[in-house]
Amino acid sequence: MLTGFHVAVIGGDARQIEIIRRLNGWDATVYIAGFNQLNESFTEAIDLDFESDQVKKLDAIILPIPGMDEEGNVDGIFSNRLISISEDWLKKTPEHCLIFTGISNNYLNELTKRVNRSLIPLMDRDDVAIFNSIPTVEGTLMLVIQHTDFTIHGSKVIVLGLGRVGMGLARTFDHLGAKVSVGVRSSKSAARVYEMGLTPIDMTNIQDFDLECDILLNTIPHLVVDASLIKQLPSHALILDLASKPGGTDFSYADKRGIKAILAPGLPGIVAPKTAGQIIADVVYRLLSKNIRKEIDHDS
Ligand code: NAP
Repeated sequence: MLTGFHVAVIGGDARQIEIIRRLNGWDATVYIAGFNQLNESFTEAIDLDFESDQVKKLDAIILPIPGMDEEGNVDGIFSNRLISISEDWLKKTPEHCLIFTGISNNYLNELTKRVNRSLIPLMDRDDVAIFNSIPTVEGTLMLVIQHTDFTIHGSKVIVLGLGRVGMGLARTFDHLGAKVSVGVRSSKSAARVYEMGLTPIDMTNIQDFDLECDILLNTIPHLVVDASLIKQLPSHALILDLASKPGGTDFSYADKRGIKAILAPGLPGIVAPKTAGQIIADVVYRLLSKNIRKEIDHDS
């Protein structure tokens, strides 16, 4: 249980609803900001008042998966108000206050360094990223089915990257009967692709490979699906780019060639917000009870 813990959930999407529900269930005191346009109300959560002393009690702040922008603003799909988090406000949190985000950026790294608070980018953790790859792969299947008029079975699929998401994509599309090739840059990953019974493509010499495919799934967060690669794709090919914004595809070139290319961020929050919120809540629970229990006991 998280009795005695004070946690602020600021901004986000449907995943945060499940996080708030779970924190309430664990008896934490939950403060929320960025949910004023949500139809349902959280009777057990308290509106976060940035002008009050609530900040002095916070053991944790949970930011949305994208964190904050380079101006310190936090996005929330359930609010029409801009939520900005200032350095002065963060300084008022207790020293042990943990700041959770999905991914971080320079602004958030520097801000938390300046105020000397621990930042936990959840998607950097293998456990969270691997659990999160499950709804990501399911969301990819949904989009592929929606945007093609042929079966996955029997189609030629190229997955770029064999990380946490790429591994799940390669395995799932293989199990569905697609002919899967995987673009990798290390010999270790190439060996793994071979071991999985799939075809490795060396990303460092990608121009030497036959890239004719029906579906191209990119998970590499760099511009790898460039004009030279797109030129080799047949016109009916679908490019789905899952890498974090802005993705790894030259979308304007794909458009010029008439190839459908879709940037598909945030799939877990779209196809399985309850599961995705649960994944985050569970790790927040573990880290809070492991790192802060003593300080709370000490303070009380
Ligand atoms: P990951 O485990 O770090 O995998 C990234 C892969 O990209 C690795 O195989 C890595 O190769 C490869 N790579 C990185 N830079 C490369 C380069 N310059 N050239 C060739 N290969 C390169 O990441 P992940 O957890 O699978 O996530 C992949 C991306 O999807 C991230 O951008 C993540 O934010 C995003 N994501 C999106 C969604 C969504 O809903 N769309 C959901 C989850 C994650 P090495 O193994 O050799 O380093």
